[in-house]
Amino acid sequence: MKKITAILIFIFFGQQILRAQDYINPLDFRLLLSGSFGELRSNHFHAGIDIKTQGVEGQKVYAIADGYISRIKVSSYGYGKALYIRHYDGRTSVYAHLKEFSSKIDSITKKEQYIRKSFEINIYPLPNTINVNQGDIIALSGNSGSSGGAHLHFEIRDTKTEQPLNPLDFGFKVKDIIPPIIKELKVFNIEDAINRDNIKNQIFRVKKNNKLYSIDSIINVDKKIGLGIFTYDQSNDAYNKNGVNSIKVFLDSALIYFFELDRLDFNKNKYINAHIDYQEKKNSKKKFHKCFKLPNNSLKNYKEILNNGYIRLNDNNIHKVRIEVNDTYQNTSILNFKIRMKTEQKELKSNEITDANIRTKLFPWNYENSFENDNFKISLKERTLYETINFRYKKKDSISGVYGMIHMCHYDYVPLHKRATISIKSKIPNQLKEKAYIAKVNNERYSYVGGKWKNNYLTTKTSELGDFAIVVDTINPVIKGINIYPGKEIKKQTTIKCTIEDRESGIKKYNGKINDQWILMEYDHKRKLLKYNFDEIIKKGNNTFVLEVEDMVGNIKVYKAKFSY
Ligand SMILES: [Zn+2]
Repeated sequence: MKKITAILIFIFFGQQILRAQDYINPLDFRLLLSGSFGELRSNHFHAGIDIKTQGVEGQKVYAIADGYISRIKVSSYGYGKALYIRHYDGRTSVYAHLKEFSSKIDSITKKEQYIRKSFEINIYPLPNTINVNQGDIIALSGNSGSSGGAHLHFEIRDTKTEQPLNPLDFGFKVKDIIPPIIKELKVFNIEDAINRDNIKNQIFRVKKNNKLYSIDSIINVDKKIGLGIFTYDQSNDAYNKNGVNSIKVFLDSALIYFFELDRLDFNKNKYINAHIDYQEKKNSKKKFHKCFKLPNNSLKNYKEILNNGYIRLNDNNIHKVRIEVNDTYQNTSILNFKIRMKTEQKELKSNEITDANIRTKLFPWNYENSFENDNFKISLKERTLYETINFRYKKKDSISGVYGMIHMCHYDYVPLHKRATISIKSKIPNQLKEKAYIAKVNNERYSYVGGKWKNNYLTTKTSELGDFAIVVDTINPVIKGINIYPGKEIKKQTTIKCTIEDRESGIKKYNGKINDQWILMEYDHKRKLLKYNFDEIIKKGNNTFVLEVEDMVGNIKVYKAKFSY
């Protein structure tokens, strides 16, 4: 009996040991980071780490543990070519911006692309259809999608919740003995925050003395304030400015704020725009962490927060503030300073608007809001704003290229969590109507937002506030053959390459065919490049290549070349 128990125990623990996997590096050279977990990116916290690939594409990418390929995604934007491996320990690893997949994965992908007649795909292979062992080469690293240079984007996710975890918590070794760098402190006057024009937020450069940062003079502050900190982290032997892992604020040695990027949630990732000082980022590109929480901010990364992080002073004493910033490897930097309530509380001016053409309306963050005048409408669902604003509208003079007035629809430094619906009324001639769209206007330049006609209103959804106007695009996209032209005798080449471009509304779709059969053309939007790798569709002898490109408002350009092969 004892013997049987021992054997059973051995089997049980033996399996446990087999299941508890140690991960290996996804690349076979030293890990240097160009991006860290939780780093502040546009509209999201960075969900993984960016690993340098020695400045080039084509490095071998390895499965970090046994598992199976659970998702294959190909896109010209975002993650580009990406692979997901589901492991047996409840975690999933993600590898993105790849140049190409291993030949087995590639042939499965191509088959799907031909079935769906689409370069962009997102498929979920069933368990055990594409198994991988630890150390298998699954892909070559690249720069595909919205990547700004050769690197491997790597994630570890909790399979059940799909929440990204910090990969550096799983034994991947990066040398980092450098504490975070603290650059600036910002003091936000919170009183009467709706009247933004009157607010004097103060920025202080900090002084560094060994590992301690400080601000020399006592800071005189208003009764109710919030703090913000401009800080970043660096690791050894890499120049990149990466994100920090946690921030703590102590007021008179009591912890009032603890923000930690230990795990993320894709459903809440956009609240980054409530967490950072969005207006400052728009103005100066500096990303300040706010050490206070706006009313409509559902991030779960505030592990400790008193009075939503706001500091309210009730006396004229000097108060000590300490801010501690940590990176993943517990290197710490500390900023010490003192605050005291201003002796004279200035009478806050009411929200004076000197421009008589500006219309205003209060938009409380937790309500549905709308504004309308004779030829413009905007509506926001509840919880679209992170805080209450005094919405402003104004008609502005037109600029060249734009049809009719420009509608100033508040300011684009106020972020939106959900898209708002805007409508512009126009008496545009009927023949131009179907080529019209709503554009966001920015410093004499404009960019496509969208638009559908209903009665005399052109309506679209926008993810930003700002200036809007109607633009008409009647210009076809441009196609240029790179290694193809009508009548070409192809001898040695193995690809057909074209560039495609649409400078007005932008490219909506493209379709390449040889001898009337759909061909897979890979789209690299950064190089405006379409590429067909020869496969069984091209035939010996005479072939006809046709490429059709359509822009956002339906202007179509067709390129045709008969060639021999
Ligand atoms: Zn990345």
